[in-house]
Amino acid sequence: MKTPIGLFGGTFNPVHHGHLRSALDICQTLSLRHVTMIPNFVSPHKQDGKIPAEHRLAMLKLATQDCQQLEISDIEINSPRISYTADTINHFRDNYPEHPLCFLMGMDSLVNFTTWHRWQEILKHCHLIVSQRPGYNIENNDDVRKLLEQHETKSIEDLSDSLGGRIYIHHAFPLAISSSQMRQAISDNHPITFLTPPAVEAYITKHQLYLAN
Ligand code: ATP
Repeated sequence: MKTPIGLFGGTFNPVHHGHLRSALDICQTLSLRHVTMIPNFVSPHKQDGKIPAEHRLAMLKLATQDCQQLEISDIEINSPRISYTADTINHFRDNYPEHPLCFLMGMDSLVNFTTWHRWQEILKHCHLIVSQRPGYNIENNDDVRKLLEQHETKSIEDLSDSLGGRIYIHHAFPLAISSSQMRQAISDNHPITFLTPPAVEAYITKHQLYLAN
């Protein structure tokens, strides 16, 4: 079995240090080959903040330009419609048949994972690596408890022993930053300094993104 690869899907509208720090931390802790960040397609009339997808992609590229461990894939963002995570995972599974795949998500995503389209197929083809996020508690969630009873591992070595099927909770201290908090700050004319890399902040200013109408 080869070195595991991380996949990190999200809207990244915009990317922030919460995303970047947790991706890099997981990459190092789990000794992943790299983490590929995969911005998703958002139907233009549904987007919160209503900015063209190319801006989200450009900001991700700026944020990760000096970090070899973080890569970007435009596979979903360039698709003309919403892509199912199961299809994206299948694409990477075909490209990396011998590498375990680790799909990174926050606890907010795990709590509704069993409502995702073809979630069993996703879990068959990759491991889930779940980051804590403030405000998300799974103790009273029966679906998640059942899922963890069957799939959870606390051993990093297990993630290299199979191509997928395990759930690993990454217990790092999470950064309480969200994209919605940033969009709100910008539209309220508050600074977003230290929430995202300076190059992303400069890009947002230059292109006048997320301003109130
Ligand atoms: P929004 O506030 O617009 O909902 P977001 O900040 O949650 O956005 P997304 O792009 O929707 O960002 O999230 C992509 C993935 O990153 C999700 O799995 C989410 O749980 C995770 N994530 C987002 N922020 C953090 C953070 N601060 N720490 C760890 N994981 C995060």
